[in-house]
Amino acid sequence: MMKIGSKLYSILNFKCPQCHQGDFFVSHPYNFRTIGELHSNCKECGLKFSKEPGFYFGAMYVSYAIGIAIFIGIISANWILNLNASLLQILFVVGAVLIFGTPFLFHLSKIIWANFFFSYKVKD
Ligand SMILES: [Zn+2]
Repeated sequence: MMKIGSKLYSILNFKCPQCHQGDFFVSHPYNFRTIGELHSNCKECGLKFSKEPGFYFGAMYVSYAIGIAIFIGIISANWILNLNASLLQILFVVGAVLIFGTPFLFHLSKIIWANFFFSYKVKD
């Protein structure tokens, strides 16, 4: 389903958006010493991950969209599963998911942002 060459492969495996082989981040999301840190260049293809200073500020928009999607997903789950949770309970669950998911979502938004600007290229 998720083959090398699709943007989803790069996003879900946190791999270089151009070659899909080199690691994008220095470490996994829950290593708090290096949270969100990228390699400057891909170790496999040499792609420079940052096009300009402040390039990844745009990832905030992606992060915002993911947060809204999580909120809508939890409200929909409450409605579909007929849980009858109050708005306060829903907000508590959304808050907990966002707080504990922040490191992962931070990485996810950066790799999605990078995939807007870099495309897969087969290595020569
Ligand atoms: Zn690469």
